[in-house]
Amino acid sequence: MHSPKYIFVTGGVTSSLGKGIISASLAKLLQARGYSVTIQKFDPYINVDPGTLNPYEHGECYVTDDGAETDLDLGHYERFLNVPTSQANNVTTGRIYQYVIDKEREGAYLGKTVQVIPHITDEIKRRMKLLGDSGKYEIIITELGGTVGDIESLPYIEAVRQMNWEMKPEDCIVIHLTLLPYLATSHELKTKPTQHSVKMLLESGIQPDILVCRAEHPVNKEIRKKIALFCNVTPNAVIEALDMPTIYDVPMAMLKEKLDKTVLTKLKLPAKNEPEMESWLNFLTKFKNPKHEVKIGLVGKYVELPDAYKSIAEAFIHAGAHNDCKVKLEYIHSSLITDGNVEHKLGHLDGILVAPGFGDRAIEGKILAIKYARENNVPFFGICLGMQMAVIEFARHVLGFKDAHSTEMNPKTKYPVIDMMPEQKKITQKGGTMRLGAYACEVSKDSKAYSAYGKAKISERHRHRFEFNNKFQKDFESKGMVISGINPETKLAEIVELKEHPYFLAVQFHPEYKSTVLNPHPLFARFVKAAITYSNS
Ligand code: GLN
Repeated sequence: MHSPKYIFVTGGVTSSLGKGIISASLAKLLQARGYSVTIQKFDPYINVDPGTLNPYEHGECYVTDDGAETDLDLGHYERFLNVPTSQANNVTTGRIYQYVIDKEREGAYLGKTVQVIPHITDEIKRRMKLLGDSGKYEIIITELGGTVGDIESLPYIEAVRQMNWEMKPEDCIVIHLTLLPYLATSHELKTKPTQHSVKMLLESGIQPDILVCRAEHPVNKEIRKKIALFCNVTPNAVIEALDMPTIYDVPMAMLKEKLDKTVLTKLKLPAKNEPEMESWLNFLTKFKNPKHEVKIGLVGKYVELPDAYKSIAEAFIHAGAHNDCKVKLEYIHSSLITDGNVEHKLGHLDGILVAPGFGDRAIEGKILAIKYARENNVPFFGICLGMQMAVIEFARHVLGFKDAHSTEMNPKTKYPVIDMMPEQKKITQKGGTMRLGAYACEVSKDSKAYSAYGKAKISERHRHRFEFNNKFQKDFESKGMVISGINPETKLAEIVELKEHPYFLAVQFHPEYKSTVLNPHPLFARFVKAAITYSNS
């Protein structure tokens, strides 16, 4: 294989323009033309990874098979490309500095002053090339977090400039994503912020090759010509990116704008075949023409920021389309659920999902929601903390274990039905020390989980410190809560179900991380199906 081609994606004018979606859409089109593509994200913050960040700060923390706690954009990459990412796909400033400083302490730079240039920029470049050097990919798309002009982005921009300088023009290109604001009073899209943001890149020695312009109204020929002229790019390199009904429409919009073709021309790569988007289009057709509709309540404590549950929301889109069903997801704050209003809050739902989380805030509302689902035969799906709460609810109200709890919330409880894993007890550091990444699970044949997966050996991703306490297994099973999935090595309980309930299933792992457009997750698909049945009954 030839040496890989590099595409850098930078952002200008404002944050939140959707660099992740544009990168994933471009990658999808190139992949659909037969290229092997991967995407990586470089984040300018000092945290070594987003694992210790509150979801309110940065949205969901996404977990890869190899146990990396990463930016939620990696979730989009996987959902679009249907190939797993890894630790190497997400790098932060904290990780770069940690590595360089550790090397300095080892004496690797003896005699030298360690500086941002060249030591930090060299380490950034080394990591930018890591996936390319693996020989597995023809095209590496690198998304730079932050906005051009931010102080903390400077070393990354400098690294891109150097990569550009070191490589042939056709081996390394830069796509700049910008915004064309619309002035309603004069009915105009304005180009000045884009011109300024390109100037800022030029000051750092980077001439972007392609401009992707986010806009709320069509970008006409005149405006394209003007942007091309003043930003020094070819007219076909000004790409319109209008707001789309869903993120899954963006690849088709970029195809229409010929973003993939323009990229391939600049990289001097053959266009090969037209992109093979048939299964993607099938998904879109099913998604947009539902035959059923269900209302699912997502009970959690970060509901003010839907990004906190990004992968769950997307998994419902995949599972909904799979079932020809529109899933109306209702975010319900668990702190607002009380004994007196639970019927009013949840009575209209066709399914209840209790979300992952940490700490004891708003826990009792989750337990009330689970009790309601259990007693009223409403389909229930618990994820991670949601499973732990389902176990606690059952212990308290069916087994009569008064005040049963997780030792995360009540270390002194008489009934620690959820307890810390023994390996976790010795750990003092918080960052990157949970049970993380993919673990095998064995599903028992006569279970709902088995009917969903259609097989016994599965692998799912984890992110937790606490677990079901096997000391109580017999008590639970004698009253109808069965453990239908266990880790074959450690015997940790990974899935629990209620025998006497139409659909009540909870998992210690995070199935949402593995749901993709082309492979909807079986447990989400099965849960939506149960919700459809419930809504028809
Ligand atoms: N707080 C729980 C634990 O650490 C659940 C974590 C989660 O929901 N991801 O085990």
